[in-house]
Amino acid sequence: MENIILTGDRPTGRLHLGHYVGSLKRRVELQNKNDYKELIILIADAQALTDNSGNPQKVRDNVIEVMLDYLAVGLDPKKVTFCIQSQIRALPELTAYYMNLVTLPRVLRNPTVKSEIKLRGFNNNEESGVPVGFVNYPISQAADITAFKANLIPVGDDQEPMIEQTREVVRSFNRIYNTDVLVECKSVLPENEICSRLPGTDGGAKMSKSIGNCIYLADDEATIKKKVNSMASFPRALEEPGIVEGNVIFTYLRAFANDSHFEKYYPEFKNLDELESAYKKGGLGDGRIKKFLNDVLQEELKPIREKRIEFSKNIPYILEVLKEGSEKANMLADKTLEEVKSAMGINYFVNDEYINEQIEKHSN
Ligand code: ATP
Ligand code: MG
Repeated sequence: MENIILTGDRPTGRLHLGHYVGSLKRRVELQNKNDYKELIILIADAQALTDNSGNPQKVRDNVIEVMLDYLAVGLDPKKVTFCIQSQIRALPELTAYYMNLVTLPRVLRNPTVKSEIKLRGFNNNEESGVPVGFVNYPISQAADITAFKANLIPVGDDQEPMIEQTREVVRSFNRIYNTDVLVECKSVLPENEICSRLPGTDGGAKMSKSIGNCIYLADDEATIKKKVNSMASFPRALEEPGIVEGNVIFTYLRAFANDSHFEKYYPEFKNLDELESAYKKGGLGDGRIKKFLNDVLQEELKPIREKRIEFSKNIPYILEVLKEGSEKANMLADKTLEEVKSAMGINYFVNDEYINEQIEKHSN
């Protein structure tokens, strides 16, 4: 089977280091491997509106910001179809049919949705309760994935429950309507476990636009330095043994530092294993480690930031890429919707079997 790869991001803010190691890097690798029929990247604005309905300007602005981040990390419009979710006609209709295949208790059990409800402070009353659209977003994500018959989904691990939900929808649909129209997908997680859920600079929850504990790909040099310096660490006297487990500075080094960084910026050590064992013995201050992390991140982010600035000078081009991509995405998704409706037998006007059956039924 030829691979169809689909990923996406919510336009709720600029993209951050969590996106970079969790998903963007893998997308660039996949793009360059060229072993796919389609590589589609969807900017999930309709999903972003499920918890930002009162702030559409934020969503509109971030469509462009996210697109700039994509191009800056090296995703190439010649190889990737970029599209905007709200512009794909078939998606809400597919969502509507899939909603009937999933029970309310099943939707409410989704652990990612549960923790996001808590995080966003939705409660149980009618005024500030969780929007219906928000608890439904995993089902609309199933529409995004199946509309393109995607089989590979590069994501961070918070998306696993969504991929599982999609597989369930696919199985139910194919079983109930006795068809093989929908394709089962699987997630592609980063090899390095830390990268599949990079924590925020506060060392707590995952780095997330909605929490604001982020280092953004677009951050300037001084901002990155400031954020690294203010990262939480465990206070101790210099000569005391340092703690590596759960230490966010080391978590980031695990995600970003390689041996050549050591050679360049910290030649006293060959690699991270050596640095960690020295740190555990004591005598190494956090200031020096943070300086190293800053050097590593500055090296990684400088070319991205510079490319981003270049692309930001041509916004009409960005919109043209999105328009063309959305047109192509519409063609692909319309075809799936047609197949879905035909599998369900609700393609009344072109379904000879149905037409004849109804004539027959009413003929005497
Ligand atoms: P929001 O707070 O609006 O939900 P987000 O920061 O969680 O934003 P999304 O747009 O929801 O970002 O996620 C896009 C993709 O990036 C998903 O595949 C998700 O798994 C991945 N991702 C997001 N945050 C991280 C992170 N901290 N570590 C690894 N992957 C991440
Ligand atoms: Mg998210």
